[in-house]
Amino acid sequence: MTAIAPPDIHDANTLAAARALLDAAGDPRQMQQEVLAAVARNEQWRGRECINLLAPEALMSPTVRQLLSAEVGQRAAEGHIGPVNRWFAGTKHIDEIESLCVELLKRLFKSNYAEHRLVASMIGNMAVYAGLTEPGDAVMTIPQPVGGHSSNRHDGPAGIRGLNIVDVPFDATELEVDLPAFERVGKQTRPKLIALGASMTLFPLPVREIAAIADEWGGKVFFDGAHQLGLIAGGQFQDPLAEGAAVMTGSAGKTFSGPQSGVMAWNDPELTPPLLDAVFPALAATHQVNRVAALAAAAAELLAFGQEYMAAVVSNAQTLAHALHTRGVPVLGAHKGYTRTHQVIADVREFGGGLDVAHRLATANLITNKNLLPNDEATDWDRPSGLRIGTTEVTRLGMGEVEMRAIADMIAGVLVEGRDPEHVREEAKELRAGHQRIHFCFSE
Ligand SMILES: *Cc1c(COP(=O)(O)O)cnc(C)c1O
Repeated sequence: MTAIAPPDIHDANTLAAARALLDAAGDPRQMQQEVLAAVARNEQWRGRECINLLAPEALMSPTVRQLLSAEVGQRAAEGHIGPVNRWFAGTKHIDEIESLCVELLKRLFKSNYAEHRLVASMIGNMAVYAGLTEPGDAVMTIPQPVGGHSSNRHDGPAGIRGLNIVDVPFDATELEVDLPAFERVGKQTRPKLIALGASMTLFPLPVREIAAIADEWGGKVFFDGAHQLGLIAGGQFQDPLAEGAAVMTGSAGKTFSGPQSGVMAWNDPELTPPLLDAVFPALAATHQVNRVAALAAAAAELLAFGQEYMAAVVSNAQTLAHALHTRGVPVLGAHKGYTRTHQVIADVREFGGGLDVAHRLATANLITNKNLLPNDEATDWDRPSGLRIGTTEVTRLGMGEVEMRAIADMIAGVLVEGRDPEHVREEAKELRAGHQRIHFCFSE
């Protein structure tokens, strides 16, 4: 006799299905089996049979993935590196692991400082706002429809810090910051930070120009490179710190191809106390040392293979974008070579919109996501006009031009030719079956 469930924000039917499974299981051992079975179903489908084109995803190498179950993942190591700084004894090897991670990240980003304890890049963004602003300060950030991310907006860390958030003006046609408009609004607003962070990211951002303008009132550029972190590490995107950003954050699990978590890097010693005080004791305590070890191992892979790997990611994105466009799927940025990152953004209004298209493609085992386009309103987030496609995972599986065109054939087959997604699924499974080995790592 299950009581009627109270209202929830999660989907009620999906939660009800889980309750039914647990009710049917009866005892806890069988309940645990249900968890293992769901994991196994995902591994079979997403891990073996799908073409994963989600821009925020990447595959870890076998070495990096194995480290996530390392013994050290059960150890606690609160505090900064070093025997006196730590709260607990017994951390001498943990200090080795963490300092290797910090030093590898500093090499990769050619920075004076790097932070390794961020369990998510969201936490890194919170650390930047907590360390470098006071409630009530003005900041300028990129709005969602032109690519901005909630972490820098009203509903994320910037919002809960109580900041006055003003839009960075964006040219929706050129898909670039509107610099003359920025100069006008910036001089009026005098923001303490200008957050250049975008989840939809096709072209470089004017870090140098904005840093020079903001210097007039002592404003700093905060580059949220969540998506581009691997591209930056591999030298295939702008280098925000070298161009004048005061601090950079990024996701370790997106193009960086490490464990899902966050990274922060900066050069100015004066920023070190406020940023590190925000990380500990404010935002990280038991920060998952297994994950730190995996992050360090992934950083070493990018030192060795980053240039070649990330160049292939970008060139695959350009090939896929062009192939889609010529097959009748409109792609943004066609007039400027489509993309300089791992992302391809399609306008799928004529095919039913982003939500419907992403689900139809998922039926064909092609995994993408719905995405806001510049002409959408932020409130259209649930049913936006666009589709975002990323090439990091398929590249790490060794796919190149031929496979990009095959993927474009499948996507256009479903959208333009109206092919049955269940038939296309067999082709997707076959393409994936031929690419199971992970490239650009020492453990190939
Ligand atoms: C994904 C993303 C984040 C959050 O990163 P997580 O590692 O998922 O916490 C922050 N900012 C931007 C621009 C993003 O795209």
